Formats: sequence, C-alpha cells, structure tokens
Amino acid sequence: MAEWYTGPKSIAMHLIDLRGKYGVVFGAANQRSIAWAIARVLHDAGATLALTYQNQRLKEWVARLVHDWEGPVLLECDVATDEQIAAVFEELGRRFGALSFVVHSVAYANREDLEGAFSRTGRQGFRTALEISAYSLVPIVRHAAPLMEKDGGSIVALTFNASQRVYPEYNVMGTAKAALEQEVRQLAFELGPRNIRVNALSPGPLDTLASRGIHGFLDMKRIHAERAPLRRNVTHEEVAKAALFLLSDLSSGITGTVLPVDAGYHIMGV
Ligand code: NAD
Repeated sequence: MAEWYTGPKSIAMHLIDLRGKYGVVFGAANQRSIAWAIARVLHDAGATLALTYQNQRLKEWVARLVHDWEGPVLLECDVATDEQIAAVFEELGRRFGALSFVVHSVAYANREDLEGAFSRTGRQGFRTALEISAYSLVPIVRHAAPLMEKDGGSIVALTFNASQRVYPEYNVMGTAKAALEQEVRQLAFELGPRNIRVNALSPGPLDTLASRGIHGFLDMKRIHAERAPLRRNVTHEEVAKAALFLLSDLSSGITGTVLPVDAGYHIMGV
C-alpha cells in the first residue's frame, strides 16, 4: 500500500492520455484520501489539475502531496461556503479557461450523528451532514458546468452502499449518500443535453481519515473482505482506476449511474 502513495507512476499513464485536459478534485486531506488516489491517476495520465483543501490546517498536507508536480494549483474551499465555491471556479476559469472533469470526494457528519440510535439525530446534525456531504455537489456542478460548455465534461462523486442498506454506525451519512445519489441522477438528466456526464463511485471500505472515525470500521472492513465475491477489500488504486474510466472518454456513453467498486459486496444477500 505504501508504494501506491509514494511509488512510481501508476498504470494510468498507459491507459489513457489526458494531456490537454483540465480538472479539479475536491476532498484531498492526506495521502490516504480517495481524492488523492484519484488525483494521482489523473495526473499520471497527463491531466492538469487543481486540488482544493478544506482549510489552512490541511493546506500543508496537500502541498506536501503534490511537492513534485509542476505548478500545482491548490485552492482553499470549505464547501459550506457559497462564496468559496464560487471563488474556486472563478480562479479555475482564469487559470484553465475550460474544465473537463470534477471530482467531489467530500463528506462530513458530526461524530454523535454517526453513532447510537438514528432516531436521535438532531435537526442541526442532519442539516450539517446533508449540507456538506450531499448539497455541496449542487453548487459545485452549477459553477463547473459553464466551464464545460465547449467540449462537455464528466463529474464524479463518491458515495457508499449505506445509501441503500443499513450500516449500523453510519446513520445520518446513509441518508446523505441516498440524497447524493439522487442528485447524481437529477444532474445527469439536466446536463446530459450539454454533454456533461454525472456519475458516482461507490467504493467498499478503505482506510482513510474519514472512515477511521466510524465506530466499528475495522469490523466492517473485515466482514466485507470475508463476504465479497472477490473475498478481499478493494484498494485505493482500484477506486482511482474506476474514476479514471468515468472521467475519461472511455465511459462516454455512461451517465447518471452509481458504479460499485467493492469487490462485488453489493450483490450479496446473506
Ligand atoms: P477523507 O477524510 O480523506 O476525505 C474527506 C474529505 O472531506 C476531507 O478532505 C475533508 O477535508 C473534506 N471535507 C469535510 N468537510 C468539508 C467541508 N466543509 N468543506 C470542504 N471539504 C470538506 O476520507 P475519504 O474516505 O477519502 O472520503 C472521501 C469520500 O469518499 C467521501 O465522500 C466518503 O464518504 C467517500 N467514501 C469513503 C469510503 C471509505 O471507506 N473511506 C467508502 C465509500 C465512500
């Protein structure tokens, strides 16, 4: 796993050529972030990228990740703030002129809303989880679409199987992911005539900052590996390769879909 974070260029560079394409990835916090895994394959495939970070505290981490990139564009964006989202896309318009893809890899819920009885979820906690994890895709797409006007584009959000199944300890985040997936369908319908595609990836459990905050995460990961048809967990690289597919012309006929990258776990009953 360590090699994936820091090692030689990934297989992406052999799969597809994204030179001359511009994109933005929301949600890199550290070397374990799914956003970073995706950014790496896009970069290796030749894309020019901007990465956003949530706040000044995370800026240093993200800057370290891209230390060997030529002129990386790093922009602060707390997705709770409309002004910051607008400012990011203004800056991208100035720097890149056009965008080919956007990755939304952002989620947040208060810890108390991920644990215990779901019926105890408070109004404010519900609002926070839905606003950060689901609503934020809407203004991001609204600002991205005009920059994709010329050649179309591809947008990918990150969801989880708890949108449709009960995962104890996931609670309000399951509700947020259900909302996010419906947004993907609605946005795909709205933007299809402009050749802008909107899809979601639904990875199995991966070790990240966010997932380690979920009580019982390691058990969940073990159970996935035991029961999934491939009898293992997926890797960051496998999720990133699926993102590369959805963000590139390889998937030109696909929009409005949720693609599980979970070693097949989602097909299982008992
Ligand atoms: P992560 O902690 O590395 O990424 C989550 C990101 O969300 C962080 O960069 C954090 O800064 C950002 N964020 C939170 N609140 C924000 C705000 N107000 N404004 C801007 N950014 C904010 O964890 P991750 O697991 O890579 O999560 C990325 C996405 O993948 C999430 O949508 C998550 O639900 C989804 N996902 C994760 C897993 C998993 O097992 N790790 C599985 C399926 C889906």
